[in-house]
Amino acid sequence: MRLEGVELLWLDMHLRRAHDTSSGSFSYRPIVVVRAVTDEAEGFGECAALAEPSYTEEFAAGAWQVLADHLVPALSTSIGLVEAASATAERPWKSVAKGVSEVTGHVKGNRMAKAALEMAVLDSWLRSRGESLREAVGVARSEVPAGAVVGIRSSVSELLDDVEGCVDGGCARVKVKIAPGWDTAPMRAVRDRFPDLALQADANGSYGRDDFRLLKGFDELDLLCLEQPLDEDDLVGSAALAVELATPVCLDESVSSRSRLGEVLRIGACDVVCVKPGRLGGLREAVAVHDVCVAAGIPLWCGGMFETGLARSANAVLSALPGFQLPGDLAGGPRFVEEDPFHAERAAGGWARLYDGPGVGPAPDASSLTAVVTRRRWYPALG
Ligand code: MG
Repeated sequence: MRLEGVELLWLDMHLRRAHDTSSGSFSYRPIVVVRAVTDEAEGFGECAALAEPSYTEEFAAGAWQVLADHLVPALSTSIGLVEAASATAERPWKSVAKGVSEVTGHVKGNRMAKAALEMAVLDSWLRSRGESLREAVGVARSEVPAGAVVGIRSSVSELLDDVEGCVDGGCARVKVKIAPGWDTAPMRAVRDRFPDLALQADANGSYGRDDFRLLKGFDELDLLCLEQPLDEDDLVGSAALAVELATPVCLDESVSSRSRLGEVLRIGACDVVCVKPGRLGGLREAVAVHDVCVAAGIPLWCGGMFETGLARSANAVLSALPGFQLPGDLAGGPRFVEEDPFHAERAAGGWARLYDGPGVGPAPDASSLTAVVTRRRWYPALG
């Protein structure tokens, strides 16, 4: 497999309706896409970074810059190393991904950008073999439960309408975004209306150590978990809260790497882990985090970043691993990106079918892709 070049594409997309969380509201959802072209196939990788650095430090324009100036040039000169590593491995896809991480390891952080490059290389490698990610990872299941996400609403009745829409669609669970001033009361209203619903809340780190009493109020609501209640850096506070609450504490933003996960587990900072391949630097790292959590007896689930059908397909495969015991953010739903050029099958009735064609996910529809690309740049392979 010889790399001919890498193209960066900027997709200008929008959510069907603004998404409100404790860290702000957005409806513009640009996505940086990496296209890796080899002499055998082309593959696509999707960057999870949002328009603004509001979820983590990474943001789409920054990811483009670091890909263009640092990651793509590193890959261009080293694709031979990436391929050689895969020849004898037991799980060859991991060796391909490891090859990418080795040639880009000199770049600090920027995990979402790295994950996009990993996905593009994996996608082209899988396509050259005619193999699906599902086969490569060794997943037997053909579908996984799909949960939905509901943002902060301006009234309880709007929230109930949104949750009802998810329930009517058969979602396997509903996750509701919360923030100080919008927490136990609206969640109680949801629970009263839907007593049997698999329900969880996501605070995106908006509470502090003075809020334990308030957060204790969630214990009456029979939640699957309370996600990222405290700041991502406050692992000690999270460990103290996990002792106080009967509700399982889940960490999302805090689990930024395998070594961070080690600290989290050592001090008992959570009961559940939310995995996002982008946040961790790619699929290989996400699977490694899965394996560590399984060994520690910590259940996982896969979070969403308002992806296209491409990254969502990868997330569905990941969610089929045995440690993913809670439903992932796979239901798509009315607020996901409009104009999605990667036409993956939508989840229905609470289940997402795993993509089974060659590659990580479906190839883009050429005309839909052209319609949303506002910038593209080609980087020929060097040497
Ligand atoms: Mg979250």
